[in-house]
Amino acid sequence: MAGMLAGKTALITGGWRGIGGATALLFAQEGAKVAVADLSKDNAAETVARINAAGGQAISLAGDVTNTADVAAMVEATVAAFGRLDCAFNNAGIAPHQVNQSRRRTHEWDEDGFDQLVAVDLKSVWLCMRAELQQMLKQGSGTIVNTASVAGLIGLRTACAYVASKHGVIGLTKTAALEYAEDNIRVNAVCPGYITTDMTRTSYEQRGDAMMSMVPAKRMGTAHEIAEMVCWLCSDRASFVTGAAYNVDGGYVAS
Ligand code: NDP
Repeated sequence: MAGMLAGKTALITGGWRGIGGATALLFAQEGAKVAVADLSKDNAAETVARINAAGGQAISLAGDVTNTADVAAMVEATVAAFGRLDCAFNNAGIAPHQVNQSRRRTHEWDEDGFDQLVAVDLKSVWLCMRAELQQMLKQGSGTIVNTASVAGLIGLRTACAYVASKHGVIGLTKTAALEYAEDNIRVNAVCPGYITTDMTRTSYEQRGDAMMSMVPAKRMGTAHEIAEMVCWLCSDRASFVTGAAYNVDGGYVAS
């Protein structure tokens, strides 16, 4: 398929739904061969079926991004299927409510919830990058995009571990960008604002007006709008872009 990513191969974590799902579809539409990874292979296969139905090429992979062996296996399976790994989108993540820490100020979080969230939202990004970089160094090039958040740039009340993790993702991104710039490997982050996905559904239903009052564009973004940025960052059109964290947030951080 012709397109911005023609001839490239990609691995996308959290590729079943939300931002990862939309990015997998756009990558395939733009010509990439895509390995769609998620916790459940059946769920990843749903995205793959949509890609294949549209004439793209994809495989489904199962694995937990917090598990070192699973992460290594995802990279290995991508290379086994497609020959190389050009683009990696480290996107899988969870929100405070998914570790039962909704609406808790910093002193109210429990240690298990904090650890679980940091494992998925921060440590996994390092685990994924570590495995991906080893392959990209072997082949002599690559691009990585990590999903941070506006919460990687500012504080957000009742989200201490999430905010700390997303700030950490930007730190990992900048460090890797410096370390691998001369190896022809670019590393960037995307910082979504409020995006309509399953992750934000309940909070939008409960306090959508308050959320939108903080967004100059006065609306939620779509997963596709994040995918567009990730696609550009992974494409050769962004050949001089590395170590950056791009907001896609309807003006949230600027306000
Ligand atoms: P979704 O909940 O829609 O999708 C998250 C995906 O990640 C799911 O497919 C989920 O699989 C997968 N996932 C979660 N934990 C793991 C794990 N341990 N191993 C492998 N896969 C896992 O969320 P979004 O699309 O909204 O979020 C994607 C990323 O964007 C996250 O990093 C999030 O923090 C970030 N983000 C989202 C914003 C938003 O407003 N939606 C704003 C800013 C950042 P399963 O469902 O099977 O658990």
